[in-house]
Amino acid sequence: PKDNILKGNVTKDKLLGGLLAAGFDDGSCLSRYRSVLYRKESPHIPSRYLAERLRNHEALQKKCGPNTELYDKAIKWLKPDAHGKRKKQLKPGHSTETTECNYVVYISYSGLGNRIVSLTSAFLYALLTNRVLLIDRGTHMADLFCEPFPDSSWLLPLDFPLLNQFGRLHKTSPQRFGNMLKSKAISDEVNGASNKSLPPYVYIHLSHDYDDYEKLFFCEDDQRVLQKIPWLLLRSNQYFVPSLFLIPAYEEELGRLFPERDTVFHHLGRYLLHPTNPVWGLITRSYQSYLAKADERVGMQIRVFGAKNSPFEHLDRILKCALEEKLLPDISLNGPVVSTTGAKSAVLITSLDSTYFEKVRSMYWEHPTAFGEIISVYQPSHEGVEQTGKEMHQMKAWAEIYLLSLTDVLITSSWSTFGHVAQGLGGLRPWIALIPGNPSCRRAISMEPCFHFAPSYNCKTKTSADLGAVVPHVRHCEDMVGGLKLV
Ligand code: GDP
Repeated sequence: PKDNILKGNVTKDKLLGGLLAAGFDDGSCLSRYRSVLYRKESPHIPSRYLAERLRNHEALQKKCGPNTELYDKAIKWLKPDAHGKRKKQLKPGHSTETTECNYVVYISYSGLGNRIVSLTSAFLYALLTNRVLLIDRGTHMADLFCEPFPDSSWLLPLDFPLLNQFGRLHKTSPQRFGNMLKSKAISDEVNGASNKSLPPYVYIHLSHDYDDYEKLFFCEDDQRVLQKIPWLLLRSNQYFVPSLFLIPAYEEELGRLFPERDTVFHHLGRYLLHPTNPVWGLITRSYQSYLAKADERVGMQIRVFGAKNSPFEHLDRILKCALEEKLLPDISLNGPVVSTTGAKSAVLITSLDSTYFEKVRSMYWEHPTAFGEIISVYQPSHEGVEQTGKEMHQMKAWAEIYLLSLTDVLITSSWSTFGHVAQGLGGLRPWIALIPGNPSCRRAISMEPCFHFAPSYNCKTKTSADLGAVVPHVRHCEDMVGGLKLV
């Protein structure tokens, strides 16, 4: 059938078990239906319910997205009146159930890994709350990602009435949800006294630097208020999915969508994030040249934050991990001088720095391996420093994340969302190196990203609590005690 694609003489399901919709134009986004040719088949099958909800969501995006009558109607709320003032308030008791189209606008922010995990969280939130997801183009979003929804665009139109205010929306803005709660502008609503009028939009700031008021986003009563507001403008750099699993109102639906709870990013990431053709070119050229012929591919993602120590100390820890865990073969210092024709492994290193690559490559050039394995070492780029905003820099970063996701075995660096995206897309449970205080590494408890700056507030008891001990499938991250992740 047309939903299959041939690899050699094996047919592959290009729709990934019902995750992807059929019928997209293939040429406009080659990666969408071709990822199956490069990635091992996932043992995790999306639930039929998830597939059904995704198709319904696509219909919603088409019905309410840009260039529709309903979108034009919805943005009227945001337009200034004849006096140039945006005075409109929603009537008391208003609920988004009565407006046909409600929206989450995701505002781009941070490095690419952070952007991808927060965008995916925003998408899950939109799916859960029946809102249309639109994204701010920010720094080259449209150059990195294909349109995910058929027959409609997720790019926020350039004439969106509030677009010129995005720069001013930050953690101190009066339109911020947390600030409105703090100034009691909408707190009566939260307490159930719905006699106040609400604004047609709020700004939600779910970032590493948010305050305790903003964290109330994750409480059920506050979610009920948000349900009355048609436009949510969301800026985030966090994978806030784990905390959605702790909101009782969403629990049942999330369980139906994801019977395997540790596959949320694996499924939603593969659904939503398709590299554009230029990025796909970077990915496939690297893959064919350096990775395709190997018997095994080992990914090594090296990300060092605030490097105080020498690069060699970091490399020693990563190599110790790789050798102890038998992810890479040891070298032989006094064995045979010539490697024989053993298994071929390709090591893919990604890093801003080229020092690690040089060292690993030399190690396997200067010495044979103990059992004659042949090791090739490849690093696609070494960009020196983070350059969010530069198109080619970000395209390379996306290509490298994707290439890491095509490996069989993955070593990542502590705290890095760059690695989280790779492991999630690839369905890999990596070994995490560079954890403070750990000279070697630790196997991740699941393939999910970590919500680094998760709240620790129990909405019922209104006290601080250990949210990693409430339900069995939400635990603390391996490398960040305050963080939460799905297992
Ligand atoms: P995190 O800071 O490790 O959580 O990851 P982010 O992706 O959010 O931010 C780091 C940014 O630095 C990336 O988006 C890239 O711009 C750059 N960067 C970091 N490591 C690499 C790498 O290995 N390769 C490339 N090409 N860029 C990198």
